[in-house]
Amino acid sequence: MTELLKVLEDYDPVRMSNGQIRCMCPFRENHPDGSGRKSFFLSPELGVFHCFSCNAKGSAVRLLTRRFGVNYFDAMEMVNLASVVGDKPKKPEFELDKSFTVTPPKYFLDRGYKDETLRHFRFGETDDGWMIIPFYRGRELVGFQQRKQTPDRIVRNNTGFNKKEYLYNYDDGYDYVVVVEGYSDVLRLYEHGYNATAVLGADVSRWQAQKISEFEHVYLAFDNDDAGRRATEIAYWQVSPHTDVKLIPYPTKDPGECVDKRTWAESFRDATDYAEYATYMAMYWDGYIEMREKVKRDLKHRAEDDSR
Ligand SMILES: [Zn+2]
Repeated sequence: MTELLKVLEDYDPVRMSNGQIRCMCPFRENHPDGSGRKSFFLSPELGVFHCFSCNAKGSAVRLLTRRFGVNYFDAMEMVNLASVVGDKPKKPEFELDKSFTVTPPKYFLDRGYKDETLRHFRFGETDDGWMIIPFYRGRELVGFQQRKQTPDRIVRNNTGFNKKEYLYNYDDGYDYVVVVEGYSDVLRLYEHGYNATAVLGADVSRWQAQKISEFEHVYLAFDNDDAGRRATEIAYWQVSPHTDVKLIPYPTKDPGECVDKRTWAESFRDATDYAEYATYMAMYWDGYIEMREKVKRDLKHRAEDDSR
């Protein structure tokens, strides 16, 4: 916390009781009249900042790295450390109780993922034959999934890991993001050279929508099935009020199966806006309109539940 206050010291920072930092807006060029002396808020907990005077807003980590020259990992640490300062020391959510070795599992190699990709995402195996897919937040291991393929596919998720407040491979060092369902999709798009993040399922929480909304350009690429179509609407209606959203019409079941780089690149280039997508869906996807209206009603109820 002190470090964060130190970085901002030229701007008279004050830590408020809710953990947010209030100070003079560091974007002085937006305030030639000298305004914005107390209009700037940074929330370490949410990792975002907002100036209520000039409306500058975005990721706290990016502010620290780009504006204040703090290196990325230090910035991550400042925001994370700051968020745990409070009355109760926060226990680690999770401890990995198994020792695992970062070894690209054969199952993923067989599906065409590169050795270096699997190492980058630190996929591994335990001595007793489980594949381990670790979930990191920055450099911190916050959870993992273990799976076995034989004889039947078994997947076990680490308990106590809140998927609703997590995005796999979230990296705000880009001005755009491709949003997908699963980590296999993220890995494939990483191989194709794209910044992707996974919601880990076919739903998008308000927390996830808020983080995704911080990007200037958002591309949705959920699975080409009923659940994926529904997730597309859930994401679109939450994110589109805040930023530019486009949809990627790729030809495979999910982005993970889009092994051909050129096919993906063409799909990305052909990204459509929502009006075009919805018109097409209304013509060719049975029950699309009904599903969409139901999603909009459900989201309204969610918002009401949250405000109670
Ligand atoms: Zn400002």
